This record gives sequence, C-alpha cells and structure tokens, in this order.
Amino acid sequence: MSNNTAKMIVAIDGPSASGKSTVSREAAKNLKIMYVDSGALYRGMTWKAVREGVDVKDAEAVIGLMNETNWDFFIEDLVLKFTIDDEDPTDHLRSEPVRERVADIAVIPEVRVFMVDRLRETADFGDLVMEGRDIGSVVFPDATFKYYLDADPEERARRRHKELLATEGKGDVEQVMSSLKRRDTIDSTRKTAPLQIPLGAKVINTTGMTIEEVVDQIVDEVDAYRTRV
Ligand code: C5P
Repeated sequence: MSNNTAKMIVAIDGPSASGKSTVSREAAKNLKIMYVDSGALYRGMTWKAVREGVDVKDAEAVIGLMNETNWDFFIEDLVLKFTIDDEDPTDHLRSEPVRERVADIAVIPEVRVFMVDRLRETADFGDLVMEGRDIGSVVFPDATFKYYLDADPEERARRRHKELLATEGKGDVEQVMSSLKRRDTIDSTRKTAPLQIPLGAKVINTTGMTIEEVVDQIVDEVDAYRTRV
C-alpha cells in the first residue's frame, strides 16, 4: 500500500440519498482537492457483470469476472475517473439494472478487498474528499476528517425521487422508498464493512439543511485546519 501519511483525507460516509454525493463533490470543488466517488467503483463492477450476463449473487462468477477486468484510473478536473476494459462506464453507472444489483455485489468480501485497495491507491494523486459507506471505518480509518451524513428516510426518498424525475423523467415515491430500504438493509447488515458511523466521525443530519449549509460547514472546518498546519 502507498504511504498516505502526508495526505489530507476528508472521508464522507452515509446512506443513499443522504446528500453525501452532492456535498462531497461541492466540498472538494471548494477546497480545490480531488473528489472520489467510491460507489462508482462498485457500480462499475456491477455494470460489467450485468453486461456479461453474470448473476451478481454468484460470488464465484463475479470474482472470476473481476479478475479478468482491466481498470485504469485517472484525474479529470480534479475528479477521479476510470475506464473498465478501456471503456468509460459513466453513463451506465446510475442505470436501473446497476442500481438494483450493486448492493449485492458490494457484499462479496473479495470484491471489497479489491475496491478498498484501489481506493487507497487514489491517495497517491493527492489530497482528496472521498464519499462512500466504509471510508472512515475501513478505507481510511486515520482520515484527517470523518463525516457521517444522514437524513430522515422520508426526506431521502423525496430527494431520490426528485433526482429520478430529473434524470429519467419518471419515478414512484413508494417504489423509491422500498428500493432505498432494501439497499440500506443489505448495506448495514452485511458481514464485511457494513454501513456504520465510523469511530470519531462527526454526524450531520441534513434533513432540514440546504446543500450549501452542509458544504459550508465542512469547508470551514477543513479550511480552519489547513491554515493551522
Ligand atoms: O454511493 P452509491 O449509492 O453510488 O453506492 C452504491 C452502492 O455501492 C451502495 O449501496 C453500496 O452497496 C456500495 N458501496 C459500498 N461501499 C462504498 C461505496 C458504495 O458498499 N464505500
């Protein structure tokens, strides 16, 4: 593993639709450091499995596929990007088949070991904000800053529904709620690296807050630290 001791790591964990993606991206932009969406790696692997017709619940088949997959990581506008077998998967990562299967891929311990190694290596590129489910607990337990973003279930379903309407032009609130619940349950009850509040993390409940308020809080705290060191 690389030596990350000199890097500033801002770890932002939380459940789906807690606001962490937008907040993490904006905070990184404000701080002028790299943004890493760790879920994109799990989604990328899921996309590959869906495309190859591999059952995501068949761990052995998924691991076999993972071992013959070629990943390339690079930075574009301070955002970590990657190709899988020389293809850019970005447009497929939020598709319905991927969304509904990704949590099943993320329970496979070997998949997690592989992704955690790749995520740790990204610190070689420099200071970063990384969002996910196990960043402050497993990927970077010694992160400089650890946040855990949460929001009430109804608010999370409302936000995700709004997002789906904007991106897909359709969406059913009840269905969104049950899909979120299903993913939450799988993510928080899995044996390896379940979703949890990392030791020492600051919990922010974003329910009554605007994105700007959450971003400002994080940026102010990180900036105050940067002026001290
Ligand atoms: O954050 P996002 O919604 O893109 O994550 C998709 C899924 O990837 C999560 O529901 C979870 O199953 C998995 N994931 C994970 N650990 C991470 C990031 C994502 O298990 N650090």
